[in-house]
Amino acid sequence: EENRMNNHEKIDTQCMQETDAAHHLHPFADYRLKKEQTSRIMVRGEGAYLWDSEGNRLLDGMAGLWCTNVGYGRKSIADAVHGQMVQLPFYNTFFHTTHIPAIELAAKLVEISPPQFNHVFFAGSGSEGNDTVVRLVRHYWSKKGNPERQVIISRNNAYHGSTMAGASLGGWQSMHSQGGLPLPGIIHIGQPSYLEGGKGKTQEEFGLEAASWLEQKILDIGAENVAAFIGEPVQGAGGVIVPPVTYWPEIQRICDKYGILLIADEVICGFGRLGYWFGSEYFGIRPDLITFAKGVTSGYVPLGGVLVGDRIVSTLMEKGGEFNHGFTYSGHPIGCVAALENIRILEDEKIVERVHSDTGPYLQKKFEALAAHPLVGNAEAIGFLGGMNLVRQKGATIHDNVPFDAALQIGPTCRAHMIDCGVIMRAVAGDRLVMSPPLTLTHAEIDEMIKLIILGLDKTVEDLRQRKLL
Ligand code: PMP
Repeated sequence: EENRMNNHEKIDTQCMQETDAAHHLHPFADYRLKKEQTSRIMVRGEGAYLWDSEGNRLLDGMAGLWCTNVGYGRKSIADAVHGQMVQLPFYNTFFHTTHIPAIELAAKLVEISPPQFNHVFFAGSGSEGNDTVVRLVRHYWSKKGNPERQVIISRNNAYHGSTMAGASLGGWQSMHSQGGLPLPGIIHIGQPSYLEGGKGKTQEEFGLEAASWLEQKILDIGAENVAAFIGEPVQGAGGVIVPPVTYWPEIQRICDKYGILLIADEVICGFGRLGYWFGSEYFGIRPDLITFAKGVTSGYVPLGGVLVGDRIVSTLMEKGGEFNHGFTYSGHPIGCVAALENIRILEDEKIVERVHSDTGPYLQKKFEALAAHPLVGNAEAIGFLGGMNLVRQKGATIHDNVPFDAALQIGPTCRAHMIDCGVIMRAVAGDRLVMSPPLTLTHAEIDEMIKLIILGLDKTVEDLRQRKLL
C-alpha cells in the first residue's frame, strides 16, 4: 500500500540502529546520551516524501537539511552523475587545468546570479565557502592597500557552518566555546529578531534599529578597520528569523557609506527558496560576495562555493599575486554535473517562479494561519521558509505571550509528535519549530503538510494536558 515502502529487502532496523550507536558519531549530538538513543533510518525518498526502515512515510518539511530543493528521486540527476563518473570521475582545477563540468557550471551560475557577479570560486560545502570568504575578503583589502581592514562583522545567532571560520562567523556561543573561537577579527552584533527585540516598536522601527547596530559597531572600531559584514538574508538554522522589510536596505546603505563589503550567505536562501534565484534579490540588496551550497545540487552531491563580485575580482586581477587557497574538491566534476542538472530542473519546471507567485504565497498564507492554533504564539513564513513559536499562553501581542519553561523541551516534544503524525519539522531554541520543504510542493501537498502539522500540534496539546502542563 502507499504508506509502505516498496523496498526489495527487509531491513533489520534494530540491528542497524545498534551498529549505528556502536560506531557512528553523529554531527551535533551528545555522545553521553548516545547509548540510550536510537536513530531513525531513512531508506528512500520520492518527491517530498521519505520512507524509513519501518516503512513509515514522512512528508519532509525540512528538505533534508534545507537542501533538497527539487525533491527526492530525480533520476536525471543520477543519470548525469553516472555519465560523468564513467567519463571523468575526478580531476582538479589547480595549476591551470579545468574540465567541462566546472566551466559550464561557472558560466551557468554567472547567468542566473545578479549582474555584479561574473566569477565563482568552488568549494565542497557551505562551511568551506565561508572559509574562502574570510580569506578572500582579507586578501582583497591587503591587495587594495588597506591591510588593516580585517574585521568581519556578523550577528548573534547566525549560522555560517562548522569549520573554524564558519563557526567563528556564526553567532552561537555553544560553538564558540568549543575550539577557542571566534577567530581574531570576527565580531558580532544583535540579530534582527522582532520577537526578541521589537517589544513596543513597529516592525519598521525595529528593522532600522537593528541595522543601526551595524553602524554603531563600525563607528566603535573605526571604519578603516572593517572589512565586511556578513548575514544570511533570512537566518535559517537560528530559527528562520525573518527580518523586518526596513532592515536590509538600511544595512546596504551603511555598507555603502563606509565602503564595507557586503557578504550574503545564501547557503539556504539561494536557488529559489525565497522565490528568487538568490534571497538578496528578494530584499533588493547588492552583495559583493554570495556563499552558496545545499540547493545548488539539491544536496544530491556535496558542492558549495562563492560568487565573487566584480569589485573584488577587478582589484585582484589588476594587482596580481597568488590567492593561496583551494580544495582538492574545488569544482568537483560530479558535483558540477549534479548542479547543472538540478538548475536545469529548476528552470524547466519553473520552480523558482512558482515559489515566487503561486506556491510560496499559498504556503505563507496557510502557514501563518497556524497562529490561530491555541499552542502557537506566532507564525511567520517567507517563500518556502517558516517558523512558529509554541507558547503556554497567548497575550495581547506576540511580545506578551507566555513561553513554556525551557527545561520542559516542548519544542522537541512537539517535533516528535509531528513525526508520529507523518511530517518532519525542526525544533530550535525557544520552542520554535521551523520548516523548509522541497520547492516542488503542490497546493495539495501544502494542504497535507499543514493538516499534519495541525495534527501534531493537537497531539502535543493532548500530551501536555495529560502531563498537567497546560
Ligand atoms: N551557511 C548557512 C547559512 C547554512 O545554513 C549552513 C548549513 N546549514 C552553512 C553555511 C554550512 O554549510 P555546510 O553544512 O554545507 O558546511
